[in-house]
Amino acid sequence: MSDILLQIDGREVTVREGATILEAAQSMGISIPTLCHHEKLEPYGGCRVCSVEVDSRGRTSVVAACLHPVEQDLVVRTRTKKLERIRKSLLEMMLAHAPDSEALQELAQEYGADKARFEKDASFCIHCGLCVRYCAEVKKKNALGFIDRGARKEICFIPEIASRECWDCKECFPLCPTSALQAAFVLSKALIAPPEDEKPACCASSSSCACSHGTLP
Ligand code: SF4
Repeated sequence: MSDILLQIDGREVTVREGATILEAAQSMGISIPTLCHHEKLEPYGGCRVCSVEVDSRGRTSVVAACLHPVEQDLVVRTRTKKLERIRKSLLEMMLAHAPDSEALQELAQEYGADKARFEKDASFCIHCGLCVRYCAEVKKKNALGFIDRGARKEICFIPEIASRECWDCKECFPLCPTSALQAAFVLSKALIAPPEDEKPACCASSSSCACSHGTLP
């Protein structure tokens, strides 16, 4: 693979071919906000908060930095008035779903997003897909997924798999940018008791076992 030279916020950087703009920016210490990126997962481009402006072949466009591959002589801007407006609007829409999310509140403060701009629809989920993708790509369990589309899209645990895999895992919970409560809330409804022969000895021997197995954080 060859090296690619590009410019980000007025500074030149050389990165490997195939890297994304987000990776190139991170390699130079430039922070681009994102709510759906995780280094262990395939790029997703779900939240679009990482939108950046690029000049390429005489055209300026807005692209998701986590998805867009670097190109030779690409000129990237990560902070412009237009990008601030885009990020502010996206955050305002997400805040309608998860007004108490710390990750959203921090970004909202930075971009002057108004928590009350859109009517509340506190589903807690901003559809970043981190939990679904982590379970599928890292854990290879596919214990949860999205159901429905558009405004009705929801996260859903698959009870048959969740009852076997989730109660002793829960690695997706801390990834959720709208706090683990959302995952815990959904999981608490979907998670059924593990099969008797898969319970740890402490739980199997006592129905009132007070250990932390199978409890929600
Ligand atoms: S439950 Fe949390 S981690 Fe999963 S898609 Fe929704 S916001 Fe993202």
